[in-house]
Amino acid sequence: MKVTVFGTGYVGLVQGAVLADIGHQVLCVDVDESKVAALQAGRIPIHEPGLDTLVIHNQRLGRLQFTTNAADGVAHSELIFLAVGTPPDEDGSADLQYVLAVAKTIAQHMNGPRIVINKSTVPVGTADTVAAVMAQGLAERGVQHRFDVVSNPEFLKEGAAVADCQRPDRIIIGTDNPASEAKLRELYAPFNRNHDKIVVMDVKSAELTKYAANAMLATKISFMNEIANLAERLGADVEAVRRGIGSDPRIGYHFIYPGAGYGGSCFPKDVKALIHTAKQVDFEPLLLNAVEERNQAQRNVLFERISAFYQGKLRGKTVAVWGLAFKPNTDDMREAPSRNLMEALWAAGATVQAYDPVAMQEAQRIYGERPDLKLVESPLAAVQGAECLAIVTEWQIFRAPDFELLAQTLSDRVIFDGRNLFDPALPASHGLGYVSIGRPAIE
Ligand code: NAD
Repeated sequence: MKVTVFGTGYVGLVQGAVLADIGHQVLCVDVDESKVAALQAGRIPIHEPGLDTLVIHNQRLGRLQFTTNAADGVAHSELIFLAVGTPPDEDGSADLQYVLAVAKTIAQHMNGPRIVINKSTVPVGTADTVAAVMAQGLAERGVQHRFDVVSNPEFLKEGAAVADCQRPDRIIIGTDNPASEAKLRELYAPFNRNHDKIVVMDVKSAELTKYAANAMLATKISFMNEIANLAERLGADVEAVRRGIGSDPRIGYHFIYPGAGYGGSCFPKDVKALIHTAKQVDFEPLLLNAVEERNQAQRNVLFERISAFYQGKLRGKTVAVWGLAFKPNTDDMREAPSRNLMEALWAAGATVQAYDPVAMQEAQRIYGERPDLKLVESPLAAVQGAECLAIVTEWQIFRAPDFELLAQTLSDRVIFDGRNLFDPALPASHGLGYVSIGRPAIE
């Protein structure tokens, strides 16, 4: 089948490449000229395991192409995916300007029936808004074409996006139109052979399903962070508690890790957007408010520990930071807890020496050159000349450090671990202080 994808970010590029890989003819459209030029030249602008080989392979076979020409994109196929960003607006609502701009563009160029398949995370009711914008665009041209707007939210995880797209847990299709449902079933059939993963529902429920999924995951994290704070004050060990509750299959081990707060481009913005949506219909979302509030507080916890250790006197200190990306296996630093930490350290007069396996360029892009940020090429280089170490992202490479060397290198011999990577006895046995989340600190 022929498919067009608008937006070549984490969602659109992965979706386009995965659809091309099963044999569909995919044309990806983006307004970002430099991104499209890079993709046309076989350079992948984001870090996502397995993505580069998938893109290059399918490009060579002619099944995956990139363009900035929206008219070509609209002409290419009856099936048009929307995978553009929906960043948070100032009031927390989802900013729909990119989604609606694409809707307008499609209406401007379509010369036959189209099915618009929305993969972007959008508030309930957006499919109707997209349809209204398209209807208006067609009316302005004085033409009539059949179209349908389907909600098909995306559930991929950054860092495992290719695998998630190739083997989705479920495929949500929000539509009341049997013809659109049939087309999407045909498109997704190769992903649906093992067992039926397709869940068809009305459009609004599909739109809400995406927010409900992210809000549930964010709730699990904030819940565990709440317990971690309690554990600290009660002298308990949250890691023992985690294992204790995870063993109950009704709770499970996934997503109950305490830490430095959730970040990334989805959870923070989607929880805020759902809160906004609730308020618009005069509903006070007590639980979601608390999830968000706990997370805001949690993102400062690591800095608070460091500041407490130095009794607020951080001026002139050098702090090594391991991990900049909001989670491992991605270069994405949107709303990353590392940013809260570094910005708080800078405000307190400290210097940061940071290392991340793939997010260094992104950090450079965000912060540019500044005297209090040194981006270095290895975990070891980060700790050299530093007083202490803060661990923010649980990359594999940080999981088994040479504690003896750290003890010799860090002048204040202390690790602040925002991810609870180690058994506290281990750094302690090398004479290192160890301050983690929800466990008794060893100073
Ligand atoms: P992104 O910012 O990485 O990419 C968006 C892309 O859209 C950019 O390349 C941008 O240039 C392009 N774009 C903007 N306006 C355009 C236009 N008019 N025409 C064509 N391209 C245009 O965003 P993302 O992380 O891929 O997220 C996209 C959507 O998917 C969001 O709504 C997000 O909430 C949702 N989502 C993201 C993830 C994730 O893990 N990143 C997972 C599930 C759902």
